[in-house]
Amino acid sequence: MDAAHNTVRNQIFLSSTLAELFSSWARNPGAVLYAGGTGIVLGTASKLAEFPGPILSLEKIHELHKITRTERYLEIGSMVRLNDLIRIGKIVPEILRNTIMQIANPPVRNLATIGGNICYAKEKLDTHAPLAALDAMYELRSAVSSRWIAASRFDTKDDPLSALDKQELLTRIRIPFESWDYTIIKKFEDRHCGCGRGMLVFIVKAQKNIISDVRFVFAGESIITNRNLEMIFFGQQLPLDRKTASHFVGLWENYLAELPYPNGLLAVKILNFISSTIEDLTR
Ligand SMILES: Cc1cc2nc3c(=O)[nH]c(=O)nc-3n(C[C@H](O)[C@H](O)[C@H](O)COP(=O)(O)OP(=O)(O)OC[C@H]3O[C@@H](n4cnc5c(N)ncnc54)[C@H](O)[C@@H]3O)c2cc1C
Repeated sequence: MDAAHNTVRNQIFLSSTLAELFSSWARNPGAVLYAGGTGIVLGTASKLAEFPGPILSLEKIHELHKITRTERYLEIGSMVRLNDLIRIGKIVPEILRNTIMQIANPPVRNLATIGGNICYAKEKLDTHAPLAALDAMYELRSAVSSRWIAASRFDTKDDPLSALDKQELLTRIRIPFESWDYTIIKKFEDRHCGCGRGMLVFIVKAQKNIISDVRFVFAGESIITNRNLEMIFFGQQLPLDRKTASHFVGLWENYLAELPYPNGLLAVKILNFISSTIEDLTR
């Protein structure tokens, strides 16, 4: 009985098209999608024998490995490895490249995929914040549907397990080409403080020293953005005067104080970062 159960549990399906994948998925509803495997190994099991169910490998599905560009956007298949996004260079927005360079180490990045980083369900991994800031869109497909969702809305708030519907997978990430003049990222590690981890990004667009757009995104347990607080920067002359800067910091402080998450030391660290970033704009 055990042996039979293990045989089924350890099955690996290597589909070469999405149609084949969905058909295997329908026959094995408990199967786990496997991209680079680094998150699965990190989060659920250390040995193949301990995997929770049959495995649906995405490795051979050619269309998921594609990178294409048009005049308006860059499109990345969900199976593109993190290191490949560093290797292809400047076509990938600086804020995303810099974020990926801080993820794990080169051997892990050679296996880990952008789709796996986005779909890891236990927490928001590092690519969420830059992709939300860049107004990226995700294509999600199931056997019967296809939809696009904004990266900033790909959150697990409604369902703590996943932002994906049942038997749905992320197929493509679409990033509009826009140039940002000032980009900064800050990674908050849990290692020393036990206060929670996350990634904060801040990007600014300015024309003739007048701010024309701003994005502030934090992604940790959930994604935090506030369009009203971004819009207060619009039309401001750079460098900012000190009075305006400290007024803006105060607004962020009040906003963060009202949120249930992030809280405690993490909220203090985030506010310190926001305050030093706004301070930088006064120079
Ligand atoms: C030593 C180490 C250090 C790390 N450090 C960092 C770090 O500093 N920052 C960071 O962000 N990450 C870090 N990670 C996590 C790593 O980036 C993720 O494990 C990785 O991005 C997941 O990609 P993967 O291709 O291996 O996904 P997998 O492990 O194959 O999948 C992860 C999850 O996503 C699901 N999934 C995968 N692809 C899809 C898809 N297309 N559609 C729907 N669901 C899908 C899988 O079913 C699984 O639940 C680290 C990992 C290791 C091992």
